[in-house]
Amino acid sequence: MRGEARVVVVGGGVVGASVLYHLTKAGWKEVMLIERDELTCGSTWHAAGGMHTINGDPNVAKLQQYTIQLYREIERISGQSCGVHLTGGIMLAGTRERLDWLKMAQARGRYLGMQLEMLTVDEAAQRFPLLDKRHFVGAMFDPIEGHVDPYGVTHAYAKSAQLAGAEVIRHTRVVDLKPRPDGSWDVITDRGNIHAEHVVNAGGLWAREVGRMVGLELPILAMEHQYLITEEVPQIAGLREQMHCIDFEGELYLREERGGVLIGTYERAGVPWSPLETPSDFTQSLLPNDLERIAPSLEVAFQHFPALGEVGIRKVVNGPFTFAPDGNPLVGPIKGLRNFWVACGVMAGFSQGGGVGLALSQWMVEGDPGSDIWAMDVARYGDWATLAYTNAKVRENYSRRFRIRFPNEELPAARPLRTTPIYDRLGERHAVFGEYCGLEHALWFAPRAADAREEVTFRRSNAHEHVAEECRAVAERVGLLEISNYGKIEVTGAGAEAWLSRVMANRVPAVGRIGLTPMLNEAGRLIGDFTMCRLAPDRVLLIGTLAAETYYLRWFERLLPPAGVHVRACATEYLGLSVAGPGSRALLQSLVRADLSNAAFPFLAFRRLDIGMIPALVGRISFTGELGYEIWVTPDYQRALYELLVAAGAERGLKPFGGRALNCMRIEKGFGTWTREFRPIYGPYEAGLGRFVALEKPDFIGRPAALKERASGGERRLVAFAVEAGDADTIGDEPIWHEGRVVGWVTSGAYGHRVGRSLALGYVPAPIAASDAGFEIEIIGERRPARRLSAPGQAGQGCAYDPTGARMRG
Ligand SMILES: Cc1cc2nc3c(=O)[nH]c(=O)nc-3n(C[C@H](O)[C@H](O)[C@H](O)COP(=O)(O)OP(=O)(O)OC[C@H]3O[C@@H](n4cnc5c(N)ncnc54)[C@H](O)[C@@H]3O)c2cc1C
Repeated sequence: MRGEARVVVVGGGVVGASVLYHLTKAGWKEVMLIERDELTCGSTWHAAGGMHTINGDPNVAKLQQYTIQLYREIERISGQSCGVHLTGGIMLAGTRERLDWLKMAQARGRYLGMQLEMLTVDEAAQRFPLLDKRHFVGAMFDPIEGHVDPYGVTHAYAKSAQLAGAEVIRHTRVVDLKPRPDGSWDVITDRGNIHAEHVVNAGGLWAREVGRMVGLELPILAMEHQYLITEEVPQIAGLREQMHCIDFEGELYLREERGGVLIGTYERAGVPWSPLETPSDFTQSLLPNDLERIAPSLEVAFQHFPALGEVGIRKVVNGPFTFAPDGNPLVGPIKGLRNFWVACGVMAGFSQGGGVGLALSQWMVEGDPGSDIWAMDVARYGDWATLAYTNAKVRENYSRRFRIRFPNEELPAARPLRTTPIYDRLGERHAVFGEYCGLEHALWFAPRAADAREEVTFRRSNAHEHVAEECRAVAERVGLLEISNYGKIEVTGAGAEAWLSRVMANRVPAVGRIGLTPMLNEAGRLIGDFTMCRLAPDRVLLIGTLAAETYYLRWFERLLPPAGVHVRACATEYLGLSVAGPGSRALLQSLVRADLSNAAFPFLAFRRLDIGMIPALVGRISFTGELGYEIWVTPDYQRALYELLVAAGAERGLKPFGGRALNCMRIEKGFGTWTREFRPIYGPYEAGLGRFVALEKPDFIGRPAALKERASGGERRLVAFAVEAGDADTIGDEPIWHEGRVVGWVTSGAYGHRVGRSLALGYVPAPIAASDAGFEIEIIGERRPARRLSAPGQAGQGCAYDPTGARMRG
């Protein structure tokens, strides 16, 4: 074993082996993998090896496609078979909702280049003759599905990497990791030490323990998972290669295995394994079977596939594997730890392992993951994702693995966790709450307690009419919204202005003003959007997305000078309320001594004001597109502020509104938001943010790329559409058709109550963005005519409501 390495990958499961392979493929030498026992001895060796392309996040779905296509490559390089059986698979729907879900998945697959095919029950039965047709209403076929040999895949990655010069060290345990001042690491093992420039935690079942070596508590939990293999099933003799199936209502996956059927289930009463610490002597081990626990699932299996009830069980496997709270991997660098990377929490190593290795290696080698991997980025979790929170969420996620998550569905586990002082006040007004980063916020308000429950659906829900009322109140009178769930980062110090000017694409506003700005990476792609509120020459409050707080801080720490600038997250140190609507100025003026006239407190002003007795920071801005104010106070004042505004607003018809109404209104205005319209795959001109890019500044990150994008116009354009929808609006990820071809995808959609139309925002290729006709948007399997909206001065981008902005500036 060498004493020096460029990279040490800790862990020789399928994920660590893939990372190692991809690092060599990217051209890095002196890369080393350290495995405490044999390769695959964690959760990899006993996996069922199933692989599929479907994922809730289209970008993760692309990486899954990549993984499956990679197997032939590593087989060719290594000479090691991966045991690929690309059988294709069917997904069965037992309800209308599930059929809708499949139609939506098929539609999304269109712009991902996936050839998904809807089947009738009869067609499904021809492909999978074991099913009892009475339990199903339809199905979908995916040709890119099948299974692999976990041992073969892991060894094919490792051998391919070794042939390119990588070293694989087995029977060696990493016992500690010590950082050096220059950012490199001493990797302490039970067989000597290695000095490495980078360390990758691919510790799988032990990723938490590897994390703890560097003071990191990763949000990961292992769950027990069982599958069984039946004796031979005579009915499938001769049909072997076609046997791959997911039965969503039965919460089962099935495939042929040596003449019998492998049946796996994500049971509702899932059991965590070693919730606090993974035993160090657990190697190539399994857990005791517990068929009792999966008996309800098996009963369903025997009803849905009667032949399975007639054969015996040959083998049962119960093994643990890890999950993050949302079921997606944890990948990337860690804030506060130089040259330390994670690739863990991978619950589908044979669908995702290749994509994880590719993204991480590009990140390490190029400084960027190369694609939009927000859904897998470890930075999507903050301090609120504690071990106990993770435990509750992973159990919930596991039990719902095959259940539909409706777009308007809020899940109950680990709630309420973070609340603000007005939480119970909003509850008294019959708020229906949602959770975001563990923080409760009102989605909408019901007129009576009995109505404060939302039916979950892909179509318009019972909330529709109440959200309409809220939008009407904001448009005609005045609405009150809690905005505490915005992220806040304070930048202070003598060097704050110069530093922000380099980090942000727009100019830093003058003291007392607000400036909107995109944040770009070196490639000129969008990695954030902020409202910059200038409090003092040396103090700026950045308001952005709460979920991206760690992501932003990780980016900032790379760029901070040794002295003169301080950056601090302060999301819940300032809680917020917003008043919006034509009556908002008069309401606030009745509580404030300062002059709030348009001349004295214009659009985008930001001041310290006393509201009654309450010291507050007030910005004249509103995401609703109406005249409005955002008011920030420390938590101790929030309740008093709320009471004051509610009391003063009573005679002006003030109505509380929630996040649903806000979403409708921002879509009517064509205002984008992070993770939907703004993601690192788009440039600022593509996203309609060109007017916030101050190219006259001589130097800011991404400027050269932004200049090029402005000159070329970019590849795509964010466009607003009015859609002839039925009883379902777009929710995001629907394909956009143009003259019979899929050309783009929807990023957000909602019914615009102020304009009385169903609306969508989405990206289409630049050359057709100005087309006036020929667009359709597919909603739940139906192509609906869509009309591009346009507004003067906003080439290619449109706005359904108040295109000149007169209302918010008034
Ligand atoms: C019953 C079952 C069925 C499954 N079915 C499927 C399926 O059909 N399809 C699918 O895609 N996935 C399936 N999985 C999940 C799959 O197994 C995991 O996604 C995958 O194995 C994760 O790989 P990994 O490399 O992250 O972790 P692991 O396989 O746990 O690898 C981590 C490695 O790190 C090593 N290590 C840890 N700490 C140290 C240290 N300090 N020093 C040195 N080495 C260390 C360990 O020894 C281990 O080998 C299944 C899992 C189970 C349990």
